[in-house]
Amino acid sequence: MRHAALAMLFALAALPAFAQPPVEQVRPVAPGVWMIASAFPPHRQPDGTTIIFRAPKGLVVMDTGRHPWRRRTILDFAEAQRRPIVAIVNSHWHLDHVSGDPALKAAYPKARLYASGAIDEALTGFLAKSAADAAPYLAPGKLPPETQEDIRGDIATTANGAALKPDIVIEGSSLRDLGGLSLQVNLARDAATAGDVWLYDPKTRVAAVGDLVTLPAPFLDTACPKGWAAALDQVAATPFTTLIPGHGAPMSRAQFDLYRTAFNEVVACAASSRDKAECAAAWTKAVTPLLGEDPALAKRAQGMTEYYVADVLRAHGGKSAYCTTG
Ligand SMILES: [Zn+2]
Repeated sequence: MRHAALAMLFALAALPAFAQPPVEQVRPVAPGVWMIASAFPPHRQPDGTTIIFRAPKGLVVMDTGRHPWRRRTILDFAEAQRRPIVAIVNSHWHLDHVSGDPALKAAYPKARLYASGAIDEALTGFLAKSAADAAPYLAPGKLPPETQEDIRGDIATTANGAALKPDIVIEGSSLRDLGGLSLQVNLARDAATAGDVWLYDPKTRVAAVGDLVTLPAPFLDTACPKGWAAALDQVAATPFTTLIPGHGAPMSRAQFDLYRTAFNEVVACAASSRDKAECAAAWTKAVTPLLGEDPALAKRAQGMTEYYVADVLRAHGGKSAYCTTG
């Protein structure tokens, strides 16, 4: 998510900040599959979900989060498992998913990084602009110290952007051998970003879909809604039983169907003359069963969706400013 949205998120984050970094749990999802939940702490930028697959030759890690504590959790887990990280897969180049890549590669230099080629354009486009736009917010007192720490981290990650480039560029969908584990590696073009990678594990029937599925709202900052909807159709055509979103709790097929319907409806609403608050309220109501107990999430869903409908989709003819197709 981009820094331009910071002020709004700051306004929505009413809880006090914590002094200690959060302790993150690695929890099992299926035999040989674990996840570290996405997070969106007060005054902080988000972390995406991390998924870890046990492969015959080591561990396959999908998405490495933004904050230093996420990297630490992944590396500690690998050490406890006594298995090297042999492959890193980036679902997409947003910094809440890739910032830990260099640390993981430093610890496991033989690990191969798999991603789409979309990072190349992002480094000179979206990410460069985000870093430049964010710099003025580092002045003393402009934002809470935790937020400024995150901005400094993002600027450093972007400056070291060459380290985020894949060793193996995913150019299409195919069954691949990752460390001896057979995974369906899928490429969705022009979806949440210009190139989203998502995984399907035929053995456990787990689908790890990155930011094709995000709560409390679809993060449309760099999206092509048409391609995104097509990608959700591809996911639906896959015989998964558990779906792991880029942000949010694991979903059953029924829960994913609910998400997909709500996604198509909010995009259609953005294309209509209905008020942004109405579109956001319809989205929030539809996904309420997926949001869990925290009442703050419904409020966040409303606020974020209003922003995406008005400032992202409507401001750029039904797609983000970064979408170069349809
Ligand atoms: Zn994300």
